[in-house]
This record gives sequence, C-alpha cells and structure tokens, in this order.
Amino acid sequence: MTTMSPLLKQATPVVVDHALGSWIHATDGTEYLDFTTGIGVTSTGHCHPKVVAAAREQCGKIIHAQYTTVMHPPLLELTEKLGEKLPASMDSVFYASTGSEAVEAGMRLARMATGRPNIVVFQGGFHGRTVAAASMTTAGTKFSAGFAPLMAGVHMSVFPYAYRYGWDEDTAVKFALKELDYLLLTRTAPNETAAFLIEPALGDGGYLPTPPAFLEGLRERATTHGIMLILDEVQAGVGRTGRFWGHQHSAAVPDILLTAKGIASGFPISAMASSTALMSKGWPGSQGGTYGGNAVAAAAAVATLQVIDEENLVENARIRGDQLQAGLKDIATRFLAIGDVRGWGLMQGIEFTTAEGTPDAATASALQQETTKHGLLTLTCGPNGNVVRLIPALTVSTQEIDMGLQRFEAALAALSS
Ligand code: PMP
Repeated sequence: MTTMSPLLKQATPVVVDHALGSWIHATDGTEYLDFTTGIGVTSTGHCHPKVVAAAREQCGKIIHAQYTTVMHPPLLELTEKLGEKLPASMDSVFYASTGSEAVEAGMRLARMATGRPNIVVFQGGFHGRTVAAASMTTAGTKFSAGFAPLMAGVHMSVFPYAYRYGWDEDTAVKFALKELDYLLLTRTAPNETAAFLIEPALGDGGYLPTPPAFLEGLRERATTHGIMLILDEVQAGVGRTGRFWGHQHSAAVPDILLTAKGIASGFPISAMASSTALMSKGWPGSQGGTYGGNAVAAAAAVATLQVIDEENLVENARIRGDQLQAGLKDIATRFLAIGDVRGWGLMQGIEFTTAEGTPDAATASALQQETTKHGLLTLTCGPNGNVVRLIPALTVSTQEIDMGLQRFEAALAALSS
C-alpha cells in the first residue's frame, strides 16, 4: 500500500471532509473548533462564501494565465487593492506562490539592489523551507540539519526574547541592539550587509511579538548604513495581529515587505512589495515562476481583502485577540506549567515551563494532542517546542473564543488530573 511520506510531521490524526468559518468537519463526523487556520492562512474563515464565489467565477474565465506570458484582471485588481494597504513608500509588487519564494525574492532583491552579499537574521526567525529560506531560518535546527551546505552569507543576531532572559522588554531590546552593533563590527561590516530580515512577530519561532523599539532600532541602523530592512509578514500580516501589517505596531517602515498565507484565505499566492526605484535595481526576468500570481488565487485574494474591509476583520482580530489573551491569562493563574502568555491580536502563544523555569516541551505537546480530543485544534511552536499557539480565523466570534478557552482549559485539566 502506498502511504504519505514520513517526511511530513502530522500534528493531528484528523481527516477533514469539509469546513466552514471556524469549524472543521472530519470524515468521521467529529466537529472541531479550528484555532490553527492551516497555520494562519484561512484568514476569512474556511470557505468564506465571497471567497468561494470569486474563485468559482474565475475558474470559469481562466485558471492559469501565466503572468509573464499574459496579464490578467485579478492580478491587476489585487495590485491596486494591496497598494491601498502598503506603506506609502511602496508602489511596486512582485508575485510568487509561497512564503518561501517571497522570502527568496526579498533576499535576492536586497543583494541585487545593494551589491552586498550578507543577510542578517534574528534568533528564532522562520522564513521557509527552500534551501535559501531554510538558510535564513533559525527557529530550530530541524529546519536545516542534514542537508548542508546551506546558502552562504547569512549571519544571525540576537532576538530580544525578554521572557527567556528573565528581563523586562527594554533591557532585552538594548541588549539585542548592542549585539547587532557588535555583529556589524566583528563579522559583517555594514558595507557588506545587504539586509536585516525579521518577522514583526516570531511565528514558528515561538509566537513572540518583536518589540517595537527593536524594529525601530533596526530601521535606524538600516537607514544609516544603506541596509535594506526586510519584514517577513508572511504569518503576522493581513490583520492577524490586530493591525493590517504586524510592523504597524511600531514606527518602523520596511524597505521590502513580504506577504503570503492570509492574503488569499487558502489559495497559494505570495507577494513582495517595495518601491519601483528599488525593484528597478533587479533586471526583468531575474525573478518569476510558472505559477506565480495565479489567476484563481489572485481573485481569491481580491475577495479576501474586500471581506477584511467589509467585515472590519482587523478590528475584530484586535478585540477578539484581547478577549483570548485575557482568558488565557486567567487560565494561567490556575495552571503553574504556563510560564508566559503573549501575543498580538489573534496570534497568541502560551509558553510552558517547569517549576525550575526550563522549557517544558512534554506538556506543550501533550496539551496540543489533548485539545484535539476536546474538539479544539491547536499547534505547537518555538525552538524548544514548548509553546502552544492559537491562530483563530479573523472572523472568529465572541462565543467561539469563549468555547475555545473552555476547551483549552478542559484539556489542561485533563492533563493535570
Ligand atoms: N515566513 C514566515 C514568517 C512563515 O511563517 C512561513 C510559513 N510558516 C514562511 C515564511 C514560509 O512560507 P511557505 O511555507 O508558504 O513557503
């Protein structure tokens, strides 16, 4: 019998038949409240009727219009709609299919534009699984071990992970900026450094918001030295954190912005945005792909952006996120294994630690399994695997958050008994 490759790690045994909004219906008839959204992808909920209608309609017109051969209206419309959301300095968008490709596009553009070889990344960053993206990923050795040599020219600096150090945020930010300055002094000189690549909130690396002051410190150094600030908004963008872009929690504006996941509610499309002046430093044909900017995915993305506006989903993410975090902090008072609850909007992480304060992956992993048994789908993350992450749809209701919190606590109680 042919089976799924053991290279895939399956978080749950669930086989989905169909799904709507925040709910997944398994083939065995079980219903699950989905706080994973396909790793932060189904932003408008599963199968939002307007997204489904847009994709269906586009399927009847043209499915694959290959954007380097013929252009198509959904991509032109998407570019216009995305333009309304982008920083004012950005007036040019490049499309691909996956987050990893967008990351590679950003890395290549930064190198081409500056003529410099090196990229500085930050501890715990996750940027994808292609060899170049994995080379810039430091969220765990499992993402790169065993297939070296990796891409050259990547240097890692410290992330201001205040909880891990037992510091306040301000101290952690000052330390991380000092370490970055030291890296620029000792390992990769500014005139050899093409870019700083960072997520506005660490995703797979532990669901940790990047302190605004740290991003602002990066911006300052990038401007001083002509280094590109690349923000990987693949997981934290498109309303997820209660702002349209994760970097909007700070005053820092990136030179290059990368997006994917939530932008099309489940259809594969990704984008790199920047200024025409910067994009023009690359040459036509240097980037692209067979499936990039697919017409059905682009139509779904246009519908997704419309739904996000019409239904005030960024605001909903902020309010429901506050509700979720308050509920989790309340639960944390009853369970000692919870060391930290943090996050912005509907991107919340619960970090598990032992009584001695060391990372407790066993509890996080057992809890993730247990929540499935209680009808709530969750995921873990973090280099230590000791963070449970909750990523509900941006459409999630007050009642669904309450229900999720009840199921989360019931699962925790079942583990503790
Ligand atoms: N960047 C970030 C921040 C991500 O979260 C991910 C996916 N988890 C990626 C890049 C890679 O995206 P993809 O899996 O679509 O290649």
